[in-house]
Amino acid sequence: MGPKLYLFDIDGTLIHAGKTPSRVFAESIEMVTGIPVVFPKGIFLGRTDTFIIREMLRLSDLPPADGYYERIRELFIQRMKDEFPRSTDGFIIPGVLDYLENISRNPQIKIGLVTGNFHTTAYIKLDRYGLASYFPTGGFGEDAEERNELVIQAVKKASSHFQTNFTPENITVFGDTRRDIESARYHGFNSVAISRVRDKHELAAAQPDILIDNFFELKDL
Ligand SMILES: [Mg+2]
Repeated sequence: MGPKLYLFDIDGTLIHAGKTPSRVFAESIEMVTGIPVVFPKGIFLGRTDTFIIREMLRLSDLPPADGYYERIRELFIQRMKDEFPRSTDGFIIPGVLDYLENISRNPQIKIGLVTGNFHTTAYIKLDRYGLASYFPTGGFGEDAEERNELVIQAVKKASSHFQTNFTPENITVFGDTRRDIESARYHGFNSVAISRVRDKHELAAAQPDILIDNFFELKDL
């Protein structure tokens, strides 16, 4: 059997963050570039924050090497620090707290993140809902631009943090988008799809090993 590694996406998987992050993202890009932002439909789904900034610069015909990326990133993080703790339109996915509490008591299960959020904003979001302490390690938006690579970075960092080599069949990715599920399968990992804030049929089409609406359904995993 061996020790298991459970890797969790954040947005749509552990919490629904509400409208603050995308609004702050748009305002940060506009303030730095002076160009109004209209996000293409679905750009946030399973994407890294690094990808989103680079893609918006590309769509605005702005050179990526001009310092825009770093300035947008810093402004976004600063404003999330100021604004997200006060946001009231988000919620925790039902059953998450009980589930994390449960698995964190199992010495055979190690827990980490695999999220497109920048490291700082990931913990700003988790802190807001009292979840930060469950996640000592993870792959973040700074670690990779694409999800397939992000998952590998998350596993590498977790292996080093826990001083453990996890075999693919002992790794499970929890996510809420097709990209999360497809990146898990690409590497031979297990997947759990959470459809609470997504379309259940669309997620089913990605063929996750387990498809749930909330974490109360996962009592025995
Ligand atoms: Mg997500």
